Amino acid sequence: MLSFFPAPYPDEILYSVLARYHVRSGNVSPKVTLHELFGSTTVTTTVDLPSHLNALVRNLPPLSKHTVEGLIQNHTLYPFYSPFLLPEKAELIYNSMREHAWGDIHTRAGIMASSLPAPNCLRFCPVCLREDQERYGETYWHRLHQAPGVVVCHTHSTFLQDSGVAARGANKHEFIPADENSGSPKLRRLNHGRETFKHLVALAQDVEWLLNNGLPPIVSAQLQQKYKSLLIDKKLATTTGYVRQAELVHCFSSFFGGDLLKLLDSDVSYGRESNWLSNIVRKHRKAFHPLRHLLLMRFLGHPASSFFALETRYKPFGDGPWRCFNGAAEHYLRPVIAKVQVTWSRDARKALGTFSCSCGFVYSTTDPRRSAYRRRARHLARVSANSKV
Ligand SMILES: [Zn+2]
Ligand SMILES: [Zn+2]
Repeated sequence: MLSFFPAPYPDEILYSVLARYHVRSGNVSPKVTLHELFGSTTVTTTVDLPSHLNALVRNLPPLSKHTVEGLIQNHTLYPFYSPFLLPEKAELIYNSMREHAWGDIHTRAGIMASSLPAPNCLRFCPVCLREDQERYGETYWHRLHQAPGVVVCHTHSTFLQDSGVAARGANKHEFIPADENSGSPKLRRLNHGRETFKHLVALAQDVEWLLNNGLPPIVSAQLQQKYKSLLIDKKLATTTGYVRQAELVHCFSSFFGGDLLKLLDSDVSYGRESNWLSNIVRKHRKAFHPLRHLLLMRFLGHPASSFFALETRYKPFGDGPWRCFNGAAEHYLRPVIAKVQVTWSRDARKALGTFSCSCGFVYSTTDPRRSAYRRRARHLARVSANSKV
């Protein structure tokens, strides 16, 4: 059991807390620190999605209030990814973080499958660094600054600087606190236009919102429904939800500009098979990188906060009323059902409507206009009408 554990600073990434522990413990070898923290010397010190957190929490001093859930939500990048993961993947990652990660957690999560590379080294804002030192007497690795796609500090309107500390791979079993950061003393000058900078600030704010709100995985069909609704508002999709792909790609590219999209490895061009933008608005059961969702939300006019609060106006079954197929009723085949309850099919790909008529007739379908369904319903209605005679 540890005799002390540093209190995490606001938005401090767990790796940074552990690095401060290492320094204060006076241990020379990081292996000794690993053993003290996790009871094992083979644990890899992963920055974004660390594992073995159950063991860590078990080893904390008796009065410590930290829980695995709290550490994951407040001091790792898990909440950055979680809303956009398939539920089973999210669970897999969460469990890998609690216990033992067999193999690479990123590969398993499909995070690496995306063409969007994670930052190679830990990053910092020079102004945050100075302020931390004034306020706390030391600085720390800020969680927000380590998220892929966060290139600026939105509090200080600065570009983040690369430190000399590798974010993955190289220091597998080491702890390097932000105070020992051997960052380039010269400030990195980035030449990006005012518009690009504005978008980068907005993205950083969105990532911060995600990190602070710990959303559970959102069913991909629900995201698509909101996207569709907003695309319809922008006249980039027909009212029936058919997306005008070429126009979408064109408007999206000119909204963000090539510079920004290149910087974030999120270039789009129409007709390319790997065009993520066309794919993300299609029906799919595939995870897309959080950044790409955030880009699409901003393009559709929403910061993450308002997007997730949005009530969707997209109606998968159009406007009612809908027909009743009760052959025994006088209103057979007449549009008399005013309300539909929308749920999701088991694989979460399709909206499933449950139509309940005042006569007591209830039917569920993914498409009330489908002729095969109507034929069957008519047949059933005839059968039930005949049996009543
Ligand atoms: Zn800053
Ligand atoms: Zn009816």
